[in-house]
Amino acid sequence: MPSDEEDYIPWIQQFCELFGHDYFVQVSQDFIEDDFNLTGLSSQVPYYREALYTILDYQVETAEDSPQDNNSIPGTANTTATTNTANTSSSKKEAKNELPNKALLAHSAELLYGLIHARYIISKQGLTAMASKFERNDFGSCPRYFCDGMHLIPVGSTDIPGQETVRLYCPCCNDIYIPSSSRYLNIDGAFFGTTFPGLLVKMFPEIENQCRIRINKFSANDFGLKLFGFKVNETSASGPRMRWLRMHPKTDEEKEEYENCEFSVPKWVSDSDMEDANDDDQEDGDDLDDDEDDEDDDDEEENDDDDKTMASE
Ligand SMILES: [Zn+2]
Repeated sequence: MPSDEEDYIPWIQQFCELFGHDYFVQVSQDFIEDDFNLTGLSSQVPYYREALYTILDYQVETAEDSPQDNNSIPGTANTTATTNTANTSSSKKEAKNELPNKALLAHSAELLYGLIHARYIISKQGLTAMASKFERNDFGSCPRYFCDGMHLIPVGSTDIPGQETVRLYCPCCNDIYIPSSSRYLNIDGAFFGTTFPGLLVKMFPEIENQCRIRINKFSANDFGLKLFGFKVNETSASGPRMRWLRMHPKTDEEKEEYENCEFSVPKWVSDSDMEDANDDDQEDGDDLDDDEDDEDDDDEEENDDDDKTMASE
């Protein structure tokens, strides 16, 4: 309140210090006072003028503290205000309808501040303020192991308010994440916008540098499944996702090989080996048939082909 100067905290500072509002930076007064920066916002925010005055700490009259309401204590809950309104005359009601009540005004002010914030953080001044927050790791680190604690950047998946809450973008893996704490789950993503992270990365090349270091560090040993230190071949029968089941001959050589080994054993195998091979194949074939029944019921046609290849193996 302007009356007691010592306890007075500006609205913007108060808003940014609220629980869960630590992703926000304080938009400078000059930026808000420049009408050019607010173009088009008046149609998006109800009680725009009053909301703007609230943000700039001007005195705003609300339905609760209009002179007719002297018998009620200003600042009490809305229910008191509405019961009082019901008792007053109709002419007074009309005057009150033009004024927002405190809850409505608070909501409008937050919406307006958020939309201004989204514009501010893509200005030079705002980018610098956000970059220092990024540097301090105020937005948290990427949960992906290979990103090695890369700092995250807040992002909105849309610029229209009221659609989706804020997400966090990792410039290293190019993925977005839901904030780990539920305190951010009511922060609108549009208050950060879709443009901001891309611009921040481009304006501060050190961020790209940090990503490059991480990518170079880990690309040499990408994680892959291993058995006792040996990688599992993708095409092996026990390999990941049974890829061999979905394989078809592609080159002419492979097609010829496929045609030749239909239901027959390759010519170069000697008679004695042939019997062993047949026995083995029988067993393999049975096992694999079981697998097919479990996993590949949808590919009836392919099963025929696979039977042939199996027999030939
Ligand atoms: Zn990442």
